[in-house]
Amino acid sequence: MADYLYIHIPFCVRKCLYCDFTSVPYDEEQANDYAEALCKELVLKKHEAGNLKTVYIGGGTPSLMSEKFFETLFSCLTANFRFASHPEITVEANPGTLSKAKLRILVSMGINRVSFGIQSFQDDELKALGRIHTSREAITALEMAKKTGLMNISLDFMYGIPGQTIATWGDTLKNAVKLDPSHISAYELTPEKGTPLFRLLEEKKIELPGEEIILEMYDDAIAYLAENDYGHYEISNFARPGFTCLHNMNYWNRGEYIAVGAGAHSFIAGVRTRNTGNIPVYIERLGAGTLPAEESLTISATEALREQLFLGLRKTDGIPLAGLEPTGVNITEAAAELIEEGYLEIAGENLRLTRKGMVMSNTVIVMLFGKLGL
Ligand code: SF4
Repeated sequence: MADYLYIHIPFCVRKCLYCDFTSVPYDEEQANDYAEALCKELVLKKHEAGNLKTVYIGGGTPSLMSEKFFETLFSCLTANFRFASHPEITVEANPGTLSKAKLRILVSMGINRVSFGIQSFQDDELKALGRIHTSREAITALEMAKKTGLMNISLDFMYGIPGQTIATWGDTLKNAVKLDPSHISAYELTPEKGTPLFRLLEEKKIELPGEEIILEMYDDAIAYLAENDYGHYEISNFARPGFTCLHNMNYWNRGEYIAVGAGAHSFIAGVRTRNTGNIPVYIERLGAGTLPAEESLTISATEALREQLFLGLRKTDGIPLAGLEPTGVNITEAAAELIEEGYLEIAGENLRLTRKGMVMSNTVIVMLFGKLGL
């Protein structure tokens, strides 16, 4: 039984230059068919759900969807699922796709957390990413959300953008804090193969800031956000007290979750399942009453340990050693050298990355896997 539900909405105004998520340009007719398909998948999976503690509507650009779409989705949810008291219900939004009226409707349906993809407060950096909004539109969207009475607002930013400097990143962080959101995410831009951004970099038409600069940007974010009362609780995530994202914490704790939608991944009873990312096929399969899974993988004990470490070490609190040692592997012994070198540390009952380790977390985790023979 899972208490966490993810709903994927694969529609956007247009593709950002760096995007490799499952998303296509918005089409109203397809979106209506998609809403019905989502509801069919929810009904087919409702027996896997306990009392939902979180619902996360991500994408894509969920805020682009019509009021009718959300009505269909929420009436399906309330008719088929039970909720824990005070569930966290998040919708991802992009500036320029939310009106005051739509926000009010979303709040009246039970949405109590909005996560805005802002990325930068510099218009030339937004352009370099191929985003559809300007920094002014981002500020307007956020002010509008606050006026609707939403207390839990998260803003996503990126560092390592072509053309970005330490100064412009500092300016973006300063503007973010001025807006006083309850939660801030700061992700390093990672150029993925097959995206236009990757091609532009290969053709040397643009370039990323140097590695040293990118590390400094990350370090600056940690320091500046800490000074402003944003607790650093995960590699890329910062929250005011009481506002950590419960839905994402469940991922990092390797908890079970149900996921619906094209390209969505679920994790139930040790099995990871991936839905088809092809929207017409997704709609067709559900129309025929079958689940749209494309791949199901039972996680082995070794893979489970890798996942526990890879996900758990993302949290600044780290991972309880007690949950790891019964696997028969001596983590403390394997981690000794990395502890000695200052990348990992034992804090109370937990193994965690140090600040030095956080900055190069992927490398440290891969080194730990090597020591463990994983
Ligand atoms: S808004 Fe998000 S999902 Fe949509 S194209 Fe841009 S990065 Fe991809």
